[in-house]
This record gives sequence, C-alpha cells and structure tokens, in this order.
Amino acid sequence: MGGVTTTIALANQKGGVAKTTSVASLGAALVELGHRVLVVDLDPQGSLTFSLGIDPEELEVTVGEVLLGKIPALDAILETDDGPDLLPANIALTQAEEQLVTRTGREQRLRVALDKVKEHYDWILLDCPPALGVLTVGALTAADEVIIPLQAETLSHRGVGQLLDTIYDVRQFVNGNLEVRGVLATMYDGRTKHARNVLTAIGDTYDLDVLEPPIPKSIRFAEAPALGRSILGTAVNHKGAEAYRELAKVVASRG
Ligand code: ADP
Ligand code: MG
Repeated sequence: MGGVTTTIALANQKGGVAKTTSVASLGAALVELGHRVLVVDLDPQGSLTFSLGIDPEELEVTVGEVLLGKIPALDAILETDDGPDLLPANIALTQAEEQLVTRTGREQRLRVALDKVKEHYDWILLDCPPALGVLTVGALTAADEVIIPLQAETLSHRGVGQLLDTIYDVRQFVNGNLEVRGVLATMYDGRTKHARNVLTAIGDTYDLDVLEPPIPKSIRFAEAPALGRSILGTAVNHKGAEAYRELAKVVASRG
C-alpha cells in the first residue's frame, strides 16, 4: 500500500440494486486484505450507517455537516466492528442537500472534505443515494472510479444510459479523471442462461466492462444489516462473502 488512495463511487439512481450492500461488503473484504478503508454514507436513509451497527438517529454529526462546511470529515468519522471506518449519514442529509443546492462549490465539497482525510486510507468507497442529484454528482466528482451495480436478471438497466450521461458530464466539466470501472452484477442467479445473456448484453450495449465475479443472489444478504455487520462477518464462508472477497482482489489488483 503505497500511500495512494483510490476513491470509488458505487452509483445507480435505481434503488435496491445492492449499492449499499456492495459498499459494506467490498469495504470489509478490502480490510481483510490488509487495506485501510473508509466508507461514506451519502444516502439520507442512512442504510449503510445502520447496516454497520450504528443507529443513524443517535448521531449528532454526519456527512451532512461536513458537506455544509460546519465540521471537518475527521470529526464525523467513526470506527465500525466490521472493519472499515464510516463517515455516517442520517435523515439530516435531506436538509443539508437542499441547502447545498444554492451553495458555492456544492459539487466539489465532498472531494475537498475527503482530500483532508485521504492520507489515512487506501480506499474510500462512496455509497450513493438512489437519485442523480447533487449528492451523487458530488460523489462522482470526488471519485477516481465508478462501479455501477445492476440487478442483471430483471433487465433493470434502463437507467444506465442516463447515469452514463451524468458521468460524462462530470468528466467533461468537473472531474476529467473519472473512470467507469465497470458494472457489477448483483443478486445474480447464474443457473439461468438468461442472467448470463443479460449481463453480456449490458456490457456490449454500453461498452462497459463487466466485473467478475457476479454476486450471487442469497437470502443471507438480507439478514446481515440487522446484525450490524456485512455478510463477511455474518456468514463468513458463504458464497456471497466469497464473491465479494474475489471482487476485492480484482478491484485491488489493477496497478
Ligand atoms: P441499494 O443500496 O442499491 O438500494 P441495497 O444494498 O440496500 O440496495 O440492497 C437492497 C436489498 O437487496 C437489501 O434488502 C439487501 O439485503 C438485498 N440484497 C443485496 N444484495 C443481495 C444479493 N446478492 N442477494 C439477495 N439480496 C440482496
Ligand atoms: Mg443504498
């Protein structure tokens, strides 16, 4: 780990495609590999925060105050039992987002805040909300790479074109270095030929890499958040946990 931080946004304006699950699980898997990881909750629902065992309603300071410039990120970052550090969120992020819309440098604020804590981390993973608003654009502005989780088998890729348009805008106007790392198939049922076909078609249609391996569909993922750990902590040897470990190696392996 040579002191270079890579920031990855997991983005898709569609809800329920496993953005939050993937941030928590990939984060835990990178920690297992010995990396220093920060995960950032950018969803006012606070699902990532909750799923890492922290009650969003109990928090006094969150990413919302950081984005408004009231406190430095370091003052809001928490340690978690799952391994990664967490910059948490709660419903207060809704008001913060409304206020941000009229503020100077709204798209740059996350990047500027994270620049000050980067030295402590090898990886920063950004859990985007299910919208293409200022929070997601801010995440894409702060990111080096973006991963697009997709629930492959339900053909839920209709929004991908719109997301890519946003990514291209961000690249053109605010973050020329942003790279699309690829799409990540989640809730994948590899037994159906259909699922594999859809995956290939998405890669071809949008000219995107499809990350390996796809993440298998399993009920075990739904149990994890209530236990305050990712699946790597709740079902240690499960195929779902193993898939995220493989993904972490793939993500980390590129020089
Ligand atoms: P998003 O952040 O994109 O809205 P979530 O990560 O919250 O999506 O996941 C949505 C739901 O799907 C959650 O209930 C989660 O537990 C479940 N889930 C995530 N990954 C899988 C999977 N591989 N198999 C089955 N269910 C999953
Ligand atoms: Mg989410």
